[in-house]
Amino acid sequence: MPNDLFVAEQRALLVARLERAQLRLRALEQHLRRTDRELPQDFADQATEREGDETLDALEARARAEIVASRGALARMDDGTWGTCVACGDEIGDARLAAVSDTATCVRCAT
Ligand SMILES: [Zn+2]
Repeated sequence: MPNDLFVAEQRALLVARLERAQLRLRALEQHLRRTDRELPQDFADQATEREGDETLDALEARARAEIVASRGALARMDDGTWGTCVACGDEIGDARLAAVSDTATCVRCAT
């Protein structure tokens, strides 16, 4: 089991990361839902705009994934299973937890 201080440190980082991801997602959603935008007349510009939207979709998907992963890790901290591999039940190890604090699996089960 990771010690309490380490868990508290990682929890603070996860909460901060979760909040940042939520803010980013909100900003992206507002940007994606804008309805007053007029499409450029030039086709090349339209294509560029669409590519831009796809990038925004990707960013939105990443923000959502980060929110899910952070919430999952925080929930595991709450129920005391954070640091235990969900696949094999072994300890994940502090080094890996410090590097990937939202991981649910040990190195061996990660691939
Ligand atoms: Zn494992």
